[in-house]
Amino acid sequence: MMKGKIFVVGFGPGDEAHMTHRAKEALIESDSVIGYKTYMDLVSHLIEGKEIVRTGMTEEVTRAQEAVRQAENGSKVSVISSGDAGLYGMAGLVYEVLIEKGWKEEEGIGVEIIPGVSAINSCASLLGAPVMHDACTISLSDHLTPWELIEKRVEAAAQADFVIALYNPKSGRRTKQIEETQRILLKYRDPKTPVGLVKSAFRERQHIVMTDLENMLEFEIGMLTTVIIGNNSTFYYDGKMITPRGYQRKYTLGEEEQKLKPAQRLKPEAEPWAMHGGKREKLVKKKPLIKNKQLAATDLAKEALSYIDGTTLTADAREEAAPVFKQTSVFEFAVSPGVWQKSINASQLALLADIVGEKGEVYYTTSHYLRVSLETEEPQEITRRLEEEGWTVSPVGNVIHVKACDFCDGEKKSSIPYAEEIKERLGGLKVPKVLRIGFNGCGMACYGAVADDIGIVYRRGAFDLFLGAKAMGRNAHTGQPVTEGLPPERLVDLIVNIIDEYREKGMPNERFYKFFKRVQRVQNFQYQEMFTPVEVNNPCE
Ligand code: SAH
Repeated sequence: MMKGKIFVVGFGPGDEAHMTHRAKEALIESDSVIGYKTYMDLVSHLIEGKEIVRTGMTEEVTRAQEAVRQAENGSKVSVISSGDAGLYGMAGLVYEVLIEKGWKEEEGIGVEIIPGVSAINSCASLLGAPVMHDACTISLSDHLTPWELIEKRVEAAAQADFVIALYNPKSGRRTKQIEETQRILLKYRDPKTPVGLVKSAFRERQHIVMTDLENMLEFEIGMLTTVIIGNNSTFYYDGKMITPRGYQRKYTLGEEEQKLKPAQRLKPEAEPWAMHGGKREKLVKKKPLIKNKQLAATDLAKEALSYIDGTTLTADAREEAAPVFKQTSVFEFAVSPGVWQKSINASQLALLADIVGEKGEVYYTTSHYLRVSLETEEPQEITRRLEEEGWTVSPVGNVIHVKACDFCDGEKKSSIPYAEEIKERLGGLKVPKVLRIGFNGCGMACYGAVADDIGIVYRRGAFDLFLGAKAMGRNAHTGQPVTEGLPPERLVDLIVNIIDEYREKGMPNERFYKFFKRVQRVQNFQYQEMFTPVEVNNPCE
């Protein structure tokens, strides 16, 4: 006799579009389908003409046993679960029944578990992106699990700042569990923590509520609802519940959120929260994020108190009871004494040192500015204080940096206003790739403007312009001289037009010299190859 087979099928949230191809194949291939009545109705069009075994909700063991019996008689049987069959579904139960019978895969009936989209995923997708980070599922059903254990899991998940998906949150008879869960969560999370309630995702009666921890019980929650509780970083934006991917957001001026390059992202100092504590040393004493022992004592005391006076904890008490993992923000910016000023005075240095503090960092760069990186919630305030002290504060990232020579310490000052106007109009502007405009006040061009993306040299009352230098690499070259003796009044508009063209037609991450080469013509300047390969003789040969 042919060996039978059991497919344990997770059919997803409910509609066919969110069911996997393999799940459909299995249903079509099966001689019979076994499942809870409601589920049968959801997949009825796929199982017409098959033997159907409908059972009630609580008859799961019977369902598994019946499936095994039929498969042993040579049938192909699908046992169906909503969502994923391996999560509060039938998969484990089928194996348990088989194990009881001494089943072994090699000689026994076939078993195939077909994964499905679980409620945590389907419901999350309808809310926005609330999961994103470490998350867990907790079923509040205490039919098969002791309440004491469920409570512990809620407490642990709340404490560890998991995003939590609550399955089986409430039924006609089980109404207190969700209230108790809210009470525990409020000990560790802000009452305003976003909470999404999704009923019957991707089914006819789908209903979505976006609320918060404090108000969640004001809305209908039932057997068909999944409750998704955000972590300490989750927020609402434009009617969507969003949990950021990491714990740190990057501020730069103008460009609110700036991604670190992969190489920077992996530097220890970019991850002060990691086990290495942001330090480079190999052996760093591990700092526990939660001091468990101390926490347990204060926690228990606070909990006891809250039982006595019937109140939940205040926000302060909550923070004391458990550390709140607030999202931190790193503010990155450039400071310089000015577009041409090169000296920095003591009070400017003192203020910078004060702002940077022990934890921030200052990098000395090749671009006439110091790059500062520090954790703060107040980037605007920091900018204000620095500017008040005479610092020029600019964004970093893919923006325009304008740097000039010191005009022989201000002695050759006739072209300074043009440098300042260019800085004023273009400094910090977003471009496809970081771009340096170099400005030199005499033909010596000793600050190297001809090696910048756009080089401007003032000579005999007029300007020479160089475009598309490549300052780095083995095929480095200066900018192409595109015009000489340009009347001063035409300079700034011309530079602005060049930048406009680059911003409009440049591809993301395309350096200016590559852009010039690709488009061949910028503001009527024809591109010419500046790098001339020469034959290199190896002295040893
Ligand atoms: N195996 C299923 C879970 C079964 S437990 C899965 O992986 O999704 C039953 C609980 O799942 C319900 O109480 C509800 O919390 C959740 N659930 C299942 N399908 C859902 C849907 N379409 N919309 C919202 N919640 C759902």
